[in-house]
Amino acid sequence: MRWGDFRRSDNVEDRTGADPGGGSPRGGGMRLGGGALVVIVIASLIFGVNPLEMIGALESGGPVAPPETRPQAAPGYGPQNTPAPGQTHAAPAAKDPAKDFAAAVLGDTEDVWKAVFQAMGTRYEPPRLVLFSDRTKSACGRASAATGPFYCSADRELYLDTAFFGELSRRFGAPGDFAQAYVIAHEVGHHVQNLTGTMAKVDRQMQQLDARGRNALSVRLELQADCYAGIWGYFAQRRNKLEVGDLEEGFRAAAAVGDDAIQKQAQGYVVPESFTHGSAEQRLKWFRTGLESGDMRRCNTFG
Ligand SMILES: [Zn+2]
Repeated sequence: MRWGDFRRSDNVEDRTGADPGGGSPRGGGMRLGGGALVVIVIASLIFGVNPLEMIGALESGGPVAPPETRPQAAPGYGPQNTPAPGQTHAAPAAKDPAKDFAAAVLGDTEDVWKAVFQAMGTRYEPPRLVLFSDRTKSACGRASAATGPFYCSADRELYLDTAFFGELSRRFGAPGDFAQAYVIAHEVGHHVQNLTGTMAKVDRQMQQLDARGRNALSVRLELQADCYAGIWGYFAQRRNKLEVGDLEEGFRAAAAVGDDAIQKQAQGYVVPESFTHGSAEQRLKWFRTGLESGDMRRCNTFG
């Protein structure tokens, strides 16, 4: 992906290396035992809407995964970034490459969605992106490396532990900068759903439903975020920002984080009723729909 000349967003807050607890008492947010935390690793790696929803998923019996060790460091983020095994940066650059990459992708999503909203006669209010390492706090609860990337509608912020990019590459076999950009664009997709009121509407509907019904709605919400991520990709492609292999990277990432793919990897079998994000095939299909049409109206996953 040619992201070198993307406008850098001012809406990135770098909390990496910050004191996550702030000395406040441990409490509130996510209170989970060791066993549950193991499940959270999986639930969250499929890009949870917020940690509270993940806890809901746990109650309905989520997949069980072997404990994970945290990756040492994320791979590089250079414009020709295809991390080779064992490849590391020799010395830290003056500018943190992970932060620069996140600011570039976020900045580009701002430009794209600003134009799309303008065309609809409304104004796009960009979200903030919080980069953290290990753990931090959000209005939706405590975020940890195990939480994975997520969007919190209450504070309109995207939370991203930059080590996740390494995880995406190593654990899910989906390396590459466009795959990483897809992750950010997907979370921005949730912000778009928040602005359009879809998220609130779905939240209200969920309150009337049992676990199975809630999961089904959650899948539709996630697939729409994938479609919206595709819309950003459509405009990136139109401005000639994609390179050979980028689309494949994105497709691989969308499929790798399908519920079936993750369940199969984690437990060896698939439980479709427990899906909260959609199958690999569905995620791929909706990401492609956005990518090929560039049209929000085509992203009606609720229809
Ligand atoms: Zn999501």
